[in-house]
Amino acid sequence: RRIVFSGIQPTGTPHLGNFLGALQNWVKLQQDASADDTLLFSIVGWHSLTLPQDPKQLSIARRDLLAALLAIGLDPKRSIIFHQDENPYHTQLSWVFSCITPVGKLRRMTTWKSRLATSRNANDESEVDESMLNTGLFTYPVLQAADILLYKATHVPVGEDQKQHIELARDIGDIFNRQFRNTFPLPEYIATTTRRVLSLKDPTSKMSKSSPDMSSRILLTDTEKEIRKKIRGAVTDSTAGITYDPVNRLGAANLLTILAACTEEDVLEVAKRYETKGHGDLKNDVADAVVALLEKPRTEFERLRGEQDYLAQVALEGAEKATAYSARTMQEVRKAIGLL
Ligand code: ATP
Repeated sequence: RRIVFSGIQPTGTPHLGNFLGALQNWVKLQQDASADDTLLFSIVGWHSLTLPQDPKQLSIARRDLLAALLAIGLDPKRSIIFHQDENPYHTQLSWVFSCITPVGKLRRMTTWKSRLATSRNANDESEVDESMLNTGLFTYPVLQAADILLYKATHVPVGEDQKQHIELARDIGDIFNRQFRNTFPLPEYIATTTRRVLSLKDPTSKMSKSSPDMSSRILLTDTEKEIRKKIRGAVTDSTAGITYDPVNRLGAANLLTILAACTEEDVLEVAKRYETKGHGDLKNDVADAVVALLEKPRTEFERLRGEQDYLAQVALEGAEKATAYSARTMQEVRKAIGLL
């Protein structure tokens, strides 16, 4: 019996990276699930506060994200779809975990290290300065471990950028099990075929909701015209012909990855077809494929956005189910640690 848990931050409209790296896989898991399996998909509002958010925008993004999750095909009858911040147990368990997680483990997280590197470059200082970053960014993976273990999840389908966090969740679960009582199964990371979609403007970094450059990502809500424009503007190199070289030709490799993901082919096979063609040809075909892929989710999203009562109902039911489901775990935890 599988218990699948995954989450997404309401930091903005989901992009092609979220879709190919995670969301599409959630829908597949839902389709393939057996009657015994439990699937939980969460909009992780608490996590989004680790970066500054405009409260008005956050509130809209939070609601829109629920519409987007339904638009891609998640079904509230088959999966528990809910707002993390509407189940109080997430932050409670996160605190318990904070108290058993060594600081050193969090310092080793590459997401934390890259935050430090960014703040260093921006200020051109030779010393890494932690005082510029908030504690939430540092303890982000502890809350994520709580999200997962609260439901005793066995499988976690996330993008490759989150793999280390799942390993940490296993570590934390293991520490708890040894220190108190065997409570948590150790969750497994489920990989997607499309490991990482890169920024269209800076292919040394991943496509991200939080990047200020809107042309760096394709949104689930982009129109055909916007999609074509963004892909035409994607950074590539000036070498003639196309090869799949994810080390030296990141921009072209990213476009090939996207095309292969849309057409469900092997990336090397796709690359072969473009050996003698130019970047313009590749971009045209990528744009066609992305437009076709996102057409249905986009129309469905627009429709659902007009159904606010329905969305509120889905959120309410999701929160009730998630809270009821996790109450037992929290009770076990309290008993194990002596706070009952
Ligand atoms: P932010 O930029 O605000 O940190 P994000 O775009 O990284 O957001 P998250 O909400 O943190 O998105 O992650 C949602 C899911 O999408 C996670 O499973 C994550 O691994 C996956 N994901 C995010 N970006 C990419 C990407 N560029 N390629 C593949 N998967 C991705």
